[in-house]
Amino acid sequence: MSERRLLRLTGRAFKDGEFDKAVLPIGSTEYHGEHLPYGTDALVAEALAEAVAERVDGLLVLPTLPYGMSRHYYHFPIAISLTTNTLMLVLREIFQSLSGHGIRRLLIINGHDGNIPAIDAAAREFRADNPEMKIAVLEAWWETAARLLPEGTFEGWGGLGHGGEGETSMALAIAPELVEMEYARGRIPKLPLHVQVKWRFEELTPYGVTGDPTKASTEKGRMMMKALIELLTSFIKEMDERNWEIEDL
Ligand SMILES: [Zn+2]
Repeated sequence: MSERRLLRLTGRAFKDGEFDKAVLPIGSTEYHGEHLPYGTDALVAEALAEAVAERVDGLLVLPTLPYGMSRHYYHFPIAISLTTNTLMLVLREIFQSLSGHGIRRLLIINGHDGNIPAIDAAAREFRADNPEMKIAVLEAWWETAARLLPEGTFEGWGGLGHGGEGETSMALAIAPELVEMEYARGRIPKLPLHVQVKWRFEELTPYGVTGDPTKASTEKGRMMMKALIELLTSFIKEMDERNWEIEDL
């Protein structure tokens, strides 16, 4: 397998790679409980991006964006946060750079809930002025993975939560040496079903963790990784086959 991570490519290797599309992992730098590393969101997004690029020709792996919008996690030490406005500007300028160099197919793999509004708005606004730039986003892998796996895979809260069962399982699968399971502790808050209350995160949990990380396992993480990699790989292949155009149902 030839190198596909841009930061590790020479100019010669980039030319030879004939890249026609890119994948951008976006993370955050924020507290993920006593048991997970600050870079969990970036590590997960990057691992997914690299695994997909190994399976799809011409897919360039862009440097992972390590900062996101983490103001809602500020109560727990430490969060290095961008504002939504700043993140939108950064994304717009990444889109512009790619488009200017002829790479007009982009998959964003997002690792962090706080980034979703900025990614959505930046992508929609950019495409309004640049219809030739195609942008696809996996906004919330934690929800997608939970839907892809058989019911009953997760033991608490459907595997969801910040630093919860699903995310901790992914970390165990990707970087077990960085996880300290003996410190895993979370809370499952009772949330209204149909209306979103804009809670501050410390109102939801005193641990900086929602969900139940004690139910996490390497095996669940491997199942999530496999399902997401297969999903994204076939997604890109299908999009390429139809030139990233929309089709009739
Ligand atoms: Zn996270």
